[in-house]
Amino acid sequence: MVKRNPSITNITAGYLFPEIARRRQEYAASHPETATAKGRIISLGIGNTTEPLTTHIGAGMVKEALMLGTEAGYSGYGEDMGLMKLREEIAAILYQGKVKAEEVSISDGAKCDIGRLQLLFGPGVDVAVQDPSYPVYVDGSVLIGAAGGWEGSGYKGITYLPCTAENDYFPDLTRLPRNGIVYFCSPNNPTGAVATRKQLSSLVEAALQKDSIIIYDAAYAEFIRDPALPKSIYEIAEARQCAIEVSSFSKPAGFTGVRLGWTVVPLELRYHSGESINADWNRICTTVFNGASNIAQAGGLAALEQDGLREMRSLTNYYLGNAKLIRAALTHLDIDCVGGGNSPYIWARFPGRDSWEVFAEILEKCQVVTTPGVGFGPAGQSFIRFSAFGHRGDVKEACRRLERLKETH
Ligand code: PLP
Repeated sequence: MVKRNPSITNITAGYLFPEIARRRQEYAASHPETATAKGRIISLGIGNTTEPLTTHIGAGMVKEALMLGTEAGYSGYGEDMGLMKLREEIAAILYQGKVKAEEVSISDGAKCDIGRLQLLFGPGVDVAVQDPSYPVYVDGSVLIGAAGGWEGSGYKGITYLPCTAENDYFPDLTRLPRNGIVYFCSPNNPTGAVATRKQLSSLVEAALQKDSIIIYDAAYAEFIRDPALPKSIYEIAEARQCAIEVSSFSKPAGFTGVRLGWTVVPLELRYHSGESINADWNRICTTVFNGASNIAQAGGLAALEQDGLREMRSLTNYYLGNAKLIRAALTHLDIDCVGGGNSPYIWARFPGRDSWEVFAEILEKCQVVTTPGVGFGPAGQSFIRFSAFGHRGDVKEACRRLERLKETH
């Protein structure tokens, strides 16, 4: 028989969200009242969007779908790196010309592109991640055999950079690997922290010094409201020499199911050997990806028109409104928390307690699902992530139920 890819064995430690779903189901099965309207479980656990597509953006996709049903409007496979018009609009509108259209490639989402980007560097590359961080950076790296694989309690070759209250959720940059990859996410999932311009400049400077490449995940950039906070790594000019940026329409336009994102690989970005990373990125995309759906790309174009931009703003405002309610409820309980102002996540601290134990307590007392911080990395221990993705009525009800934690906090 064919042997299993050992890298798959290395990631069988389990993915966080299936485990949460399993515990939720187990709880529901033994608590019949959760099947009633009053006792139903409310999720503030997963970063999935809940609100419907907005009018103008939805209409853009409907129009394209109808066009595809006509002889004149039909198109099959599209341009390999995405519709040039969409690449141009992203460069002009979202990056104000700081990147060129040829440097933007259109994807079926940021997660998929993170997986494909990992092919650029292959097995053996040293990897650093913020700790806690979005699980795909570590699991995807292990899957391609980077970082040496699993070694009982942690992944060899992966440097975890703790981001805690003590360091203002910004890592110690002296620990960046040399000639390695650094994943950095801002606004951060799960902590909700947003790096300042000064912090990003120091990150870029450290990466350049170490000849390392930053993979900057800006999937939540559209939630930033503070004009002083950078929305892109390319707001730091030198980042063009050391950073790739991935981003997405998933959260600002509700495209988690539609699937549309993009990646920026600057033309001047080079490997140690001097070859162009952008050229290899094109090669990978044309080899293992056949382009994003033309209907989704029409939605992306509509999202970047004036009406679409307004709709994305109001959708992100809605989730930020939820975040404000959750933060207020936690603060009322004297639970120490950060995030939520410029991001859809609130990171709450339960000193001295185990994340999964707090998760279980909130589920049992409030019938609210959250995400245990430790699932995002060891530095997430004793934290819980609250997600602001939810219907307003559910969020309000969840906040009311959180009052039941009063006795313990
Ligand atoms: N990056 C981060 C930090 C995320 O939290 C998520 C989704 O939750 C993604 C990327 C995935 O985005 P997409 O839906 O575009 O694949």
